[in-house]
Amino acid sequence: MSDGYFTEQQTPHLRLGVRISRKLHEESTPYQRLAVYETTGLGRMLALDEIVQLTESDEWTYHEMMAHVPMLVHPCPRRALVVGGGDGGVLREILRHRTVAHAELVDIDEAVVRAAREFFPGVSCGFADPRARVIAGDGIVHVRDHPGEYDVIAVDSTDPIGPAVGLFQAGFYRSAAKALRSPGALSQQVGSPFYNRDFVRETVAAARTAFDEVRLYTGVVPTYPGGLWCYLLGIKGTVAAGFDAGRAAALGPTRYYSAEVHRQAFALPPFVAELLR
Ligand code: SAM
Repeated sequence: MSDGYFTEQQTPHLRLGVRISRKLHEESTPYQRLAVYETTGLGRMLALDEIVQLTESDEWTYHEMMAHVPMLVHPCPRRALVVGGGDGGVLREILRHRTVAHAELVDIDEAVVRAAREFFPGVSCGFADPRARVIAGDGIVHVRDHPGEYDVIAVDSTDPIGPAVGLFQAGFYRSAAKALRSPGALSQQVGSPFYNRDFVRETVAAARTAFDEVRLYTGVVPTYPGGLWCYLLGIKGTVAAGFDAGRAAALGPTRYYSAEVHRQAFALPPFVAELLR
């Protein structure tokens, strides 16, 4: 931090600066350096290894797109798993679906879950839902050991560094496809279509070794590098091309996700569509 700004070196050529009013918490966990800040304009902010994970001002754009897209292409998701996502945002959105009887979250770092409970009650509120189960563990191992258990898996991990590397590899996608029932859907954040192009291409190729179909969709997250973010949708079996409008309406008010946004998210600009070829 310098001059009252938290700085993230987003790429070798680009920095993000967020004005901070107070550092609320800092700790070194066995996996990463965790910090929580009060910002002057973006609400509270969670950073891991100096990389912004969420701010209260825009977390909903990301969490809604990670959760509602796979949940609404699936005909009737009852059991869901979040891999990573220890802040609870994706879990919160998944639990808005009335079809869900059970939702698990497995994050390798229980310190993230603890910090989310203490500093981000509006994000982590799903932890208290009787349908939810929060597990401390490695998502790679958990997915491998639970074949045939889930209708939807949302992989909300940190960037492909340290324990998250394996979550973007073919071996993980093969276990995830086995952990899904058929039909099944997996969503995953895969990075910036501007700055992580080779990575997105390689990840799509790895996912294609395991799923019947792999699609990309995009959404806006202002504090992530470049603002426009890519999500991968891995499909096992056959799911709807669109989504279930009745169930979408039953979610109640959303701030980013809508029927039109869902459709538009798959209308890829040519420079993003290229990443699928
Ligand atoms: N939306 C965020 C982003 O893209 O910046 C990610 C948020 S969430 C806090 C990421 C979580 O993934 C972290 O809490 C981290 O502990 C967890 N994680 C990383 N590797 C993991 C693994 N192999 N298994 C389970 N959780 C993992």
